[in-house]
Amino acid sequence: MINKQYDVSCGARAGAGAGAGAKAVYSFQHKTKKVVLCCDVKMGKVAVGAAVVCAAACAAAAMVVRRRTKGSGKWGRAEALVRELEEQCGTPIAKLRQVADAMEVEMHAGLASQAPTRLQMLITFVHNLPSGDEKGLYYALDLGGTNFRTLRVHLGGKEKGVVKLESEEVSIPPQLMTGSSQELFDFIAAQLAKFVSSEPEELHPPPGRQRELGFTFSFPVKQTSIASGNLIKWTKGFNIEDVVGQDVVGELTKALQRIGLDMRVAALVNDTVGTVARARFSDQDVIAGVILGTGTNAAYVESAHAIPKWQGLLPKSGEMVINMEWGNFSSSHLPLTEYDQALDADSLNPGEQIFEKIISGMYLGDIVRRVLLKMAEEADFFGDTVPPKLRIPFILRTPDMSKMHHDTTPDLKEVGKKLKDILEINNTSLKMRKIVVEVCEIVAARGARLSAAGVFGILKKIGRDKVKAGEKQKSVVALDGGLFEHYTKFRSSLESTIKVLLGDEAAETVSIEHFNDGSGIGAALLAASNSHYLGLQES
Ligand code: ADP
Ligand code: MG
Repeated sequence: MINKQYDVSCGARAGAGAGAGAKAVYSFQHKTKKVVLCCDVKMGKVAVGAAVVCAAACAAAAMVVRRRTKGSGKWGRAEALVRELEEQCGTPIAKLRQVADAMEVEMHAGLASQAPTRLQMLITFVHNLPSGDEKGLYYALDLGGTNFRTLRVHLGGKEKGVVKLESEEVSIPPQLMTGSSQELFDFIAAQLAKFVSSEPEELHPPPGRQRELGFTFSFPVKQTSIASGNLIKWTKGFNIEDVVGQDVVGELTKALQRIGLDMRVAALVNDTVGTVARARFSDQDVIAGVILGTGTNAAYVESAHAIPKWQGLLPKSGEMVINMEWGNFSSSHLPLTEYDQALDADSLNPGEQIFEKIISGMYLGDIVRRVLLKMAEEADFFGDTVPPKLRIPFILRTPDMSKMHHDTTPDLKEVGKKLKDILEINNTSLKMRKIVVEVCEIVAARGARLSAAGVFGILKKIGRDKVKAGEKQKSVVALDGGLFEHYTKFRSSLESTIKVLLGDEAAETVSIEHFNDGSGIGAALLAASNSHYLGLQES
C-alpha cells in the first residue's frame, strides 16, 4: 500500500529550517508578573471535566494529494489538503483504545526495566503524599518550559488549607535555555533571593532554622532520593549540555551558596508529581496528575508491588508516585503526518518526545503554521506568493491558534486580525478564515483526544477504568498547565473523550479536575512533608 517513492524536498526543507526554528521559538518578552492571593484549600472544583512518522508513508500521502488535486482550482486543492490532514489526524475511538493499550504496555515495560525504555516510568521517591495536615511556611521554585516561578506558600493544615500564596513569575530569558549551567542556576538563585527579600518580618524563620524549598523541575530526572536527581535529557527547547547527567539540586545549591542565600532544597519534584501532591492535599481520591502546558507529562500513584525495578524497601504506604515522562511515548497507532515529521526533524530533539510534539502547547501552533504553509505553497491559498512570515518556525504560537479557534464573530474578525498581525497576510476572505479555523480544529482535536487516551491508559493500568461489582471507588485525575487551562475547546474535547472511553458507568466514578498552581504548591507541600523540622511546624 505504501508508495516507496520518497519526497526528498520535504526532508531538505525541514533541515534548512532547523537553526531558525530554535531561535524563533523563544523570542518572547521578558516580563515579570506578581501574584498575591489568599485561597482556601477547598478550591472550587472545575466541572468535569514508533515511531517517527514513516517518511515514505507521508510522502506517499502528499503525492496522492498532489495527484488528486492537480488541475483543480485553488479552493479544491486547499480543500483536498485539509481533508487529507483530517484523515491522517483521525482519532476514532477504536484508535484511541489502541493508543491507550499501547500506553499500558509501555508502562509495564518501563516499570520492569532498569534500562532506558520508551516510557521511563521514573521512581520519584514520593511515597508519602500530603495528608492535608501540613503546616508552616515553605518556598517553591517552578522551572517549567516557558515560565519560571517563585512561590511562598503558607500552609494551615486541614482547617485552613493554603492560607496564603504569593508568587512571582518571569519568562525564562531565551539565551539561558541554551547557555551554561551556571548562568541558568545563577539566574534562578538571583530571582529567588529577590523574592525571599520581600518576606514579611513576622514570617522570618526563628534563629537557627533554615528556610526550606521544593524545587519543581519539569524535565526528565533520574532521582536518587527525594532531594537529589540527575538530569537525563532536556526537552521543550532547552539544551544546556553541562547539566545533563548532573544532580540539579547540587547545581541549584551551589548557586544559592554563590549568592549567599541560606536555604535547603527539601524536595526535588517533577511538575506532574507536584500536581498529584497538591491535589492530594485537598482530595484523597487523587490518583494521577497530568500537565498540558509547554510540554506534556503525567504522574500517577502506583502500588509499590507493581514496580519490579524498585529495589528499595517497601514504603509504609505501599505506594510510590511514578513520573511517566509520557511526552516520549510513541506508537505505530499514533496518527502522525508529514507536518509532524518535519517538525520533529527540525526540533532540538529529533526522534524524541513524539507524543509531546503532537499534543502540547509548544508545538500545536507550529503544526498549524506548517499546514498553512503547505496550502500556500501548493494551493496558492493566500495568493500568488507565499507569505514570507509563514516560513518562520514557531511564529504562530498556540495561544494565537487558540484565539483563532475560539473566534465567535460572524465574520471571523479575530482570525483575520491574527493572520494580519502575525503572518502579515492581509485581506483574507471569510472562506479562507473558515478553513484556517478548520485546520486549528483538526490539530487541537487530535491533541486533546490523544491526551484523553493517555489518561485512559493510566486508568486501565491501575484498574480504575471499570466499576468493580458493588464498589464505586472515586478516582480523581488532577490537571494543570496553560494549554489545559486556557484552550477551552482542547479541554472540553479531552473531557468528553475520556467519558466516551470510560462509558457511562465508569465515567461517573472518574473526574478530571483542574488544580491551578498545582506544580508549585505541590513542591512546597512535599518540602513540608520532607522537612528537617517535622513536628516543629508552626501553624
Ligand atoms: P510551563 O509548561 O512552561 O510550565 P504553563 O503551564 O503556564 O507553563 O504553560 C504555558 C504554555 O501553555 C504556553 O507555552 C502555551 O503553549 C500554552 N498556553 C498558554 N496560554 C494559552 C492559551 N490562551 N491558549 C492555548 N495555549 C496556551
Ligand atoms: Mg509548569
